[in-house]
Formats: sequence, structure tokens, C-alpha cells
Amino acid sequence: MNVFAKVLAVFALSIFGLFTNTSVASEPELPNIAYFKADDVALSLDDVRNMPADQWNSIGNEAPSFGYDTTPHWLRVDVPAADFYRLLQIEYPLLDHVDVYFVAFDGRVEHHYMGDTQPFYRRPIAADGFVVPVPFNDAHTMFIRVQTSSSLSVPIRIWETSAFHQAEGPRYVAIGLYFGVLLCMVVYNLFGYVVTREASFFSYSIYVVFTGLLMAALSGVGFRYLWPNGLWLQERAITLFGGLAFVFATLFITQLLSLRKKSKGWHTGLLILGSFAGLVAICSLFLPYAITIFMLLPFSVIACFYVLVLGVAMWVKGMQHAQIFTLAWFAFLVSIIFNSLGYLGLIDGQFIQRYAIMIGSGIEVLLLSWVITLMYSAERTEKLGAQEQMLQHAMAAQEAQRVLNEELETRVEDRTRELQSVSESLQRANAELERQSNEDGLTKLFNRRFFDTHIYAEFQRSRRAHTPLALVLLDIDHFKVLNDTYGHQAGDAVLVEFAQRLQKVATRLNDVVCRYGGEEFAIILPATDLTAAETVAKRLLRAVGETPFASVGNTNEPMEVTASAGVAVIRDNMDNVADLIAAADQALYGAKNRGRDMLVLAD
Ligand code: GH3
Ligand code: MG
Ligand code: MG
Repeated sequence: MNVFAKVLAVFALSIFGLFTNTSVASEPELPNIAYFKADDVALSLDDVRNMPADQWNSIGNEAPSFGYDTTPHWLRVDVPAADFYRLLQIEYPLLDHVDVYFVAFDGRVEHHYMGDTQPFYRRPIAADGFVVPVPFNDAHTMFIRVQTSSSLSVPIRIWETSAFHQAEGPRYVAIGLYFGVLLCMVVYNLFGYVVTREASFFSYSIYVVFTGLLMAALSGVGFRYLWPNGLWLQERAITLFGGLAFVFATLFITQLLSLRKKSKGWHTGLLILGSFAGLVAICSLFLPYAITIFMLLPFSVIACFYVLVLGVAMWVKGMQHAQIFTLAWFAFLVSIIFNSLGYLGLIDGQFIQRYAIMIGSGIEVLLLSWVITLMYSAERTEKLGAQEQMLQHAMAAQEAQRVLNEELETRVEDRTRELQSVSESLQRANAELERQSNEDGLTKLFNRRFFDTHIYAEFQRSRRAHTPLALVLLDIDHFKVLNDTYGHQAGDAVLVEFAQRLQKVATRLNDVVCRYGGEEFAIILPATDLTAAETVAKRLLRAVGETPFASVGNTNEPMEVTASAGVAVIRDNMDNVADLIAAADQALYGAKNRGRDMLVLAD
């Protein structure tokens, strides 16, 4: 049990103590009563006074209660003597017509006419029920004629005047408390609605408004303070407000318990009851009270039980806080039962008749407001939980996406690296292939293929840049003889060494030494004029001739090798690269012709 419930319990107990303690200060008298049902509406006081004694039904000091009966009833009350001022109280504010006749033994008669068909100000004493000063101190008889379209109940009490006022105080405090609680609940739940936009707060507020108006009508407070001249409203206040209260009750119960979603069957039942309540409210506007109250009464009994059983059903279904909802309606129902039992005189009615309904309805209203807040909070927590879950799912999805992306990235990186390495090895292979395709297998010099493209490129560049270009063609002398004498292997070895000796001389960055074919070699010398080319060619021949070549194969002697050279440079009259080659070739041919082991410059 939480603190709120404890505070509520202490509060309720102290109020209970306040009213029970003070109201027993001086109990009112319950006089001896006899009644007579007057089928003849027009009977006068004299007719009644002269009626034979056996026509009267004695009921002792019980409170007269005749159920719903519109025929006039006459009551004969024996008023004992007293030496203090007294008040007669009929604590049932809904009676339409009340005629009170005080008849003294000396024949004097005092008459008061009251009822809620009269404006409030006509009452001799302003009270929620009907209160009249008792005019005589001697023992005398009082005749009361009552007729009403509501339940005919005439709780008669004769008070010592001061005791009456003493008892009225706590009653007004109780009424004030009760309506104060209701007002608070209305305002509090309207705030709740404004802040949360939760429909059940709103419909509940309106329900409490109509419950309050209904209670005000039932207790006489409404007629006294809210519509003292509103006779039209007073006549139908109970059925109108009762009907409307239940309409809004069904509305907020539907919203509160989410019946539309949770239980179609219960929702339909409640819808039917709510519609009927609405019908009663509408009918109360133009049908007589006597008819509409008979619509409302059995209906409200059925409706209250229905709601109670509905609460239990939801409780059994395991709906959160449904037990508090059930308890609320149970408190209300119990208070109605106690109140009815009090009216019927089956239990001692004083306290119960005064406060039972207010306490029951007050507890109901408070508990319902509590349960609305609890359910709203639970729903909110659920919503927040769902949101949190969704957020977590989204975050998990994002994380999964991130991991996936990372994986993808690494995979792409790996692939790229693989591709790169493949492409690199391809490039290397290509380069190797290209190198191989440009290389002479035996001497490892550039081959004829390379020479052809390279000399062409150098020729073009020289033309563009107006730089000189020299070409030296070298041919080994009498190589056929060498081959024949020492064998092809020795010939090959000479070719290899010959190539190395050429390479050692032509060391400038752009100098290119190629095997032109057989024992013929070509040296391309870019940016080199004829004089410089001649110097290079001389150096080449010297490198070949100055030392014999190493012995190989079937010979032990070193081999004397010489070569002839033709040197040409690019000239303006040359159309293409073939002219340059032809010029060098011709010069070489000249050197051979002149006896070999020499160089000849092209003209
Ligand atoms: P010359 O002084 O007029 O140039 O006479 P030569 O014998 O050098 O010229 P010739 O053109 O008559 O003979 C060239 C010889 O070179 C013919 C061939 O057997 C030989 N020869 C060509 N290529 C190779 C080679 O790769 N290896 C070997 N061992 N001999 C080769
Ligand atoms: Mg030769
Ligand atoms: Mg040759």
C-alpha cells in the first residue's frame, strides 16, 4: 500500500470520527406515526381528522417509505410535549408536495405548504430537506399530506432546535468536502487532459461534473444553491444528470480500459447501456419524471453491476490496475446498497442515510482518478519502453550496417591490393616481354627490331629539335674465316665479347648499341656531330683491335679480331631514316673495300 492510500485512509477515518462524534450530541426524536393512503385526492384536513381510527395504519416510529407511488398519503404524527423549541425535519428533498398541519388540542391549526415544485425561497426554514418550526410545546397531533412523482419516502424527525443546527454543521462540512473533492477531481483531470491530450481525462472530468450535479439534486443542495428557482430543472434533474453521468461513465470506461481493442463483447454491452442512458437523458427533457425515473432506476442497477462485473473480468484477464477500478465501483455500489437499506429501515439509518452515498461516491471518484493516472502512466511507460526498444533496434541495425560496411571495405581493399599486385606482375611480365622482344639473345644487346623503331624515333626527334644524329655501323672482318677456323662456338664467344667491348665505349646516356644482324653492329649516337662520331668510332675500333679475344673451344690461342666502321650523320637532304642507314652502310662498304680495319665517314 503506498503513501497516498495511507493518507487517504487516515483522512477518511478522521472525517468519520468528526461526524459520528458530534452528531450524537443530541439525537432527534422519532415520533409515533400512522399513515393512510388517500385514493380520494380531494380529501381535506377535516375529512382526515374525522376518519375512523381503523382506517389508519400504525407504523410506530419507523420512517415511512412507500416506494414509487404517486397517490397522496396522509401521515398522522403524535408530537409529545416538550419544554424547548423544536423543529420538524423531513430529510428527503425530492417530495413534490408537502402539507404540514399542526393541530393543537384546543383546535388551533397551523399549516405549511412546501415541496420542490415551489421555489426554494418559499420554505419557512432554508434547508436541503423540509424543515418547519413546531409551533406548540404541548403534546399535539400533526397531519402531513405528501404527494410526489419520486420515491415516496418521508423520514420524519423532531429536533431540539439547537441540536438540529449543531447536527447541520458537520453535514455541511461533509457536503463541502464531498463537492470540494469532486471539484478538485474535475479541475485536476481537466489539467491532465490539457497536458496529456489523453481523452479519458476529459470524459472522466465530465463524468464527475454530472455525478456532482446528480448528487446535488439528490441531496437538495442543487435546488438550494444552484437552481433555487429552476423548477423545470428540479423536476428532471435526477434523470437528466443521472443519464448524462452514465453516458460519460461509459465513454471514459471504454477509453480507460481500451475496450474497443481489448474486448469487443464488453464494449458492445457498454455501448448499449450508454446509449440507453443517453436516451433516458433526452426523454427526461419532455417526459414526466414519474416515467423517466422508472427508466433510470432499473437501468442504473443493471449498469452498475455490469460495470462492476466488467471490472472483475478485466482483473481476471490480468489488466493492470483493474482491481482498483473494480474497487472504485464496488465502493459506490456498496454505498448505494447501504443507503437503500437505510431508507428501508433495515439498518440504523442516521449516519448512513446522511453520508453513505457521499462517502461511497467520493471514494469512487478518488479511486477512479487514481486509476486513470496509474493507467496513463503505465501506458506511457509501455510507450517509452517500445520507443527505447525501437531505438535499440535501430542502433543495432546501424552497428550491423557499420560492421558490414567495414567488412566490405576490407574486402574491396584486399581485392584492390590483389588486383594491384596482379597488375604489377602483369606490368613486370609485360616489361620483361618487351625487354625480351627488344633484346638479342646471344649478346644481350638491343636487337634489330629495337634498332628499327629507335633509330626512327631518334631521326624524328633530331628533325624536330634540329640536333645532330650520328649512326655508326660496325662489321667484323673476315668472320666467316674465324668461324671456319675455330668453329661456331668460338664465333659466338667472339660476338659476345665484341658486344661487351662496344658497350664499354658507348657509355653516354642516350647512346644505344644494337646487334644489327650476324656480325654487324649499329651504334646510335643522338646529339652527336660527325667529328664527335668519328672519335667514338675510332675508340670503338681501338677497343676491338688493341687486345686479342679470349681463346674458346678447339683453339688455345687468343684470336686477333678487327672490324670496319661506317659513320654517317643526319643531313638536310635526307628524306627519311633509310637514307641515314644507307649512308652509314655505304661508308662501311667503303671501309671494307679499302682494306678493312678502318673507319670511313659518309660524305
Ligand atoms: P668481310 O670481311 O667481307 O666482312 O668477310 P666476312 O667473312 O666477315 O663476311 P661474310 O658476310 O662473307 O660472312 C659473314 C659470316 O658470319 C657468315 C656467317 O657464318 C657468320 N656468322 C653470322 N652470324 C653468326 C653467328 O651468330 N655466329 C657465328 N659463329 N657466326 C656467324
Ligand atoms: Mg664481316
Ligand atoms: Mg657481314
